[in-house]
Amino acid sequence: MTKLTINKAIEMALPDPFLGRHLIDGEWIEGAETFTRISPSHDTVVSVSAKGDETTTEAAITAARRAFDRGDWSRISAKERSAVLLKVADLIEANVERIAVQETLESGKPISQSRGEVSGAADLWRYAASLARTSLGDSHNSLGADMLGVVVKDPIGVVSIITPWNFPFWILSQKLPFALAAGCTVVVKPSEVTPSSTVMLGELLIAADLPSGVCNIVLGHGQPVGSMMSTHKDVDMVTFTGSTAVGKMITEASAGTLKKVALELGGKNPQVIMPDADLENAADAVTFGVYFNVGQCCNSSSRIIVHEDIAEDFVARVVALSRLVKFGDPMDPDTQVGAIVTADHQRKIDNYVQQAVAAGAKLELGGGALPVEGLGSQFYQPTVVSNVTPDMAIAREEVFGPVLSVLTFRTLEEAIALTNDSEYGLSAGIWCNDIHTCLEYARRAEAGTVWTNTWMDGYPELAFGGVKQSGQGREIGRYGYDEFLEVKSLVMRVGRDSRAPWVEASA
Ligand code: NAD
Repeated sequence: MTKLTINKAIEMALPDPFLGRHLIDGEWIEGAETFTRISPSHDTVVSVSAKGDETTTEAAITAARRAFDRGDWSRISAKERSAVLLKVADLIEANVERIAVQETLESGKPISQSRGEVSGAADLWRYAASLARTSLGDSHNSLGADMLGVVVKDPIGVVSIITPWNFPFWILSQKLPFALAAGCTVVVKPSEVTPSSTVMLGELLIAADLPSGVCNIVLGHGQPVGSMMSTHKDVDMVTFTGSTAVGKMITEASAGTLKKVALELGGKNPQVIMPDADLENAADAVTFGVYFNVGQCCNSSSRIIVHEDIAEDFVARVVALSRLVKFGDPMDPDTQVGAIVTADHQRKIDNYVQQAVAAGAKLELGGGALPVEGLGSQFYQPTVVSNVTPDMAIAREEVFGPVLSVLTFRTLEEAIALTNDSEYGLSAGIWCNDIHTCLEYARRAEAGTVWTNTWMDGYPELAFGGVKQSGQGREIGRYGYDEFLEVKSLVMRVGRDSRAPWVEASA
């Protein structure tokens, strides 16, 4: 464990615990019961939240349904809707610090990454506002002289939004502004682990004059809140980001009412390293890809597939960089990797590593808890595991921690086969100086996003989502916006029907 870079606790006073309430029909509602969140890094209560039950969830769904049917959001002009979204974007930018501090204290992620997440989300709101005003349907003026066909898009209705703990503010902003831009009304349930930034966003929505009942927030757990949001007859669509296991439960639960379901789930995302790649750039991107957000990232590049000829050298580069990555106090602006979200999750991460080592994998670096002076040890060492075989759990399952698995290949065919030998298909990448190889790989990799000579770059314009068990549907971009719209065909006669009547009128 020597020769790692560890930032000890900095001296600072933490804010008082945030008190989170439900937002239902424009009112802040206390809970009959509450639940608390203890900071994974600072081991102190950082939020106390109202705990949703059947009654609060029913009230939130009823409010969203009523607001949708009332039409003062769903049927107003896109110009008016986008004005509200743009105001929210400005308010987010004015409140970055408050939201980011709370998000870091609840999640354990570094403050610099929380600040980036929150300020970056403002752009998602602006982009969604632009989509509202440029949304188009189709017209068919070629159906015959007396016929005109028009395809219009309507908001899908009431949308349940269920989010995870790893990017609470960003993931909400990948969904909410797009649903609102389309004219939908919503019920949001953040993760019970990171509820507060969603409540803070609720405050901004009110300040931006979003009509009451258009966005309702219920705090609490999967049972009963998330479950009711997935089964209720008044909900038209569920958009969920989280684990594949819960995604499957939601799909089953929603079948009773055949509501639309959009899912953003797990990943086991590979980066393929070819011998002719710019190895300096690739090693830096691999290091970023595995440690960003404490490795608790759906897009984590948790496995690399390296050409045998360069594997030893490449792993040595990644290990050397890993030693320089700054682990430690997430409130230190200099820290790059913070705390693991829960003690249970830390045990799960460690189990993957120990199991792999017992099965013959080699620990190149790390592989255990990382005590941080002044903060305890809910931190995990930067960990690189080589000699990993494709059948090992560490190569197949989402570890969701700062742990890199190294596999090797000899031919491009093998690299593509290893890439696709996964239940997941969220993202994949290749590092290579030959454009033909890059394109061959990009076309054949089974993934919703393929990066070539870069990793994890994303833009509001580009659709995001997974194939196979990484999900269904897309978020952001025009495709993400369209998920919240229903298509309706209008068939219109021009003039009188000149065809012979279907029924001969009696003389
Ligand atoms: P999780 O599935 O445990 O929980 C996600 C949300 O679902 C939480 O709000 C939780 O309360 C709720 N929930 C739990 N049980 C439910 C039920 N029966 N019905 C309805 N809702 C229920 O996931 P997590 O641990 O919070 O997040 C980590 C997971 O999220 C990882 O698997 C990660 O890959 C995935 N993720 C995917 C993406 C993506 O875009 N593909 C992005 C981020 C995270």
